[in-house]
Amino acid sequence: MRHRRPAWHVATVVETRPETPNAVRLVLDVPTWPGSEAGTHLDVRLTAPDGYQATRSYSVATSEPGRVVLGIDELPDGEVSPFLVREVLAGDELEIHGPLGSYFVWRPGQSGRPVQLIAGGSGVVPLYAMAAAHAAASDPSPFRLLYSVRTPAYVYFRDELAALAGPSFAVDHVYTRQAPPGWDEPAGRLTRDSLASTTFAPHERPRIFVCGSTGFVETVVAWLLELGHAAHDILTERFGGL
Ligand SMILES: Cc1cc2nc3c(=O)[nH]c(=O)nc-3n(C[C@H](O)[C@H](O)[C@H](O)COP(=O)(O)OP(=O)(O)OC[C@H]3O[C@@H](n4cnc5c(N)ncnc54)[C@H](O)[C@@H]3O)c2cc1C
Repeated sequence: MRHRRPAWHVATVVETRPETPNAVRLVLDVPTWPGSEAGTHLDVRLTAPDGYQATRSYSVATSEPGRVVLGIDELPDGEVSPFLVREVLAGDELEIHGPLGSYFVWRPGQSGRPVQLIAGGSGVVPLYAMAAAHAAASDPSPFRLLYSVRTPAYVYFRDELAALAGPSFAVDHVYTRQAPPGWDEPAGRLTRDSLASTTFAPHERPRIFVCGSTGFVETVVAWLLELGHAAHDILTERFGGL
């Protein structure tokens, strides 16, 4: 699977459903899709009637051949995401290119070391794929996810993450705007201290995957380095923005 050349594929939308108040889950039927490693992404290319094309990258939440699940956040002034979130309907066809990326990837049996996933908002999509692959492979590495999200309603793959959580996969949430009733901490942005207390410690030598907006990723990486994690153990994916 890793050595196949990425190709353009015709994808048929099987389902589009609300994932959060401003995001959808798109389920695509792609007969030529070879399957993909956890953490990879694809390009979606839209073509207007006048031939104008726009292409954007989206992480793949699934790994099996023939089927692709995407989680797409709408940026209000964006060119492509409002179309994918609001206009696309079941039965529509999309052009996709991939799978792409071999760096921000988790492979079963890779290290035996703990794996720390750190997500901001829609940045959880490739990290969810890693958690699902970890469970499917019964890989023994301990996994943790720290997930920063506005409110409980903005959690992507809520039911799936809850089903995956267990002795070898811990999930911690940071709610930036509104925490659920009875939550221990008031809502607020992730801090260096809460990052330190909800992630594997540097002496445990975790491999760390960080994904979210550019600003989120850069802040988290700076804190991880200050806490003593090694730069070569931190892998990042920036979704754009500030
Ligand atoms: C490898 C990779 C994987 C990605 N995976 C996903 C995914 O799984 N789900 C998802 O929703 N998005 C994902 N993205 C982001 C996606 O590619 C687009 O950038 C996003 O959908 C915005 O496109 P747009 O055309 O709507 O906005 P644009 O018209 O491209 O941008 C509009 C404005 O928003 C800003 N902006 C662009 N991207 C972001 C962002 N992510 N956050 C905040 N501001 C932004 C731009 O700087 C610009 O000012 C991924 C990006 C990369 C590089």
